[in-house]
Amino acid sequence: MHLPPITRASFLCTTMGGLSCFQSLFNQSPNNNNNINQHPLTTSYHEPPSGIDYSDNPSVFGKILNGDQPCRVYKESTELLAFQDRSPKANFHALVIPKQYIKSVYSLTSNDVKLVQDMRQMGLDLLEKELPQALKDEDYILCYHIPPFNSVDHLHMHVLSPASEMQWLMRNGKYSCGARWCTSSLDVIARLKSGKAAVPYSQLF
Ligand SMILES: [Zn+2]
Repeated sequence: MHLPPITRASFLCTTMGGLSCFQSLFNQSPNNNNNINQHPLTTSYHEPPSGIDYSDNPSVFGKILNGDQPCRVYKESTELLAFQDRSPKANFHALVIPKQYIKSVYSLTSNDVKLVQDMRQMGLDLLEKELPQALKDEDYILCYHIPPFNSVDHLHMHVLSPASEMQWLMRNGKYSCGARWCTSSLDVIARLKSGKAAVPYSQLF
């Protein structure tokens, strides 16, 4: 195809513009918000609840709990630990995990209602401290990934905020509650409370 130079130049500009626009959909880094405190990276043993030890936890979170891997801790209770996701997809992106080894949402039963409620409450407490306005505006996502679409085989709830500032593909893709791979914390609580399995799908493998 032969194009006069001007047309070629404008074609290139348009194409490159389109490409960079498309690329930004896949850009993994969130907008930086300087209002969020950067918590220090620490390696420490996180005292487990009585009767629990970390030797039966093969996941990377077991290493974090046992003090073999560092993390940026936001909050800790007897039963739970909250720390920054190592590859944040929102200005504030924490994981809340039980110290007890629970593999995934598929391992949850109606006995775990209090646990998942406490996980949710810890997520909301973090938002109240770090992003009070986003909490008021309900501009956040509290969710679990559903195996095999989970990254670590240890139950973890994602806390992402402000959701409105997340990359489109993250908000509407990976962290889209109600998709086959992602479920909201509220749904998990409601289903367990009514005696159902935590998610409405059977395990693929
Ligand atoms: Zn996940």
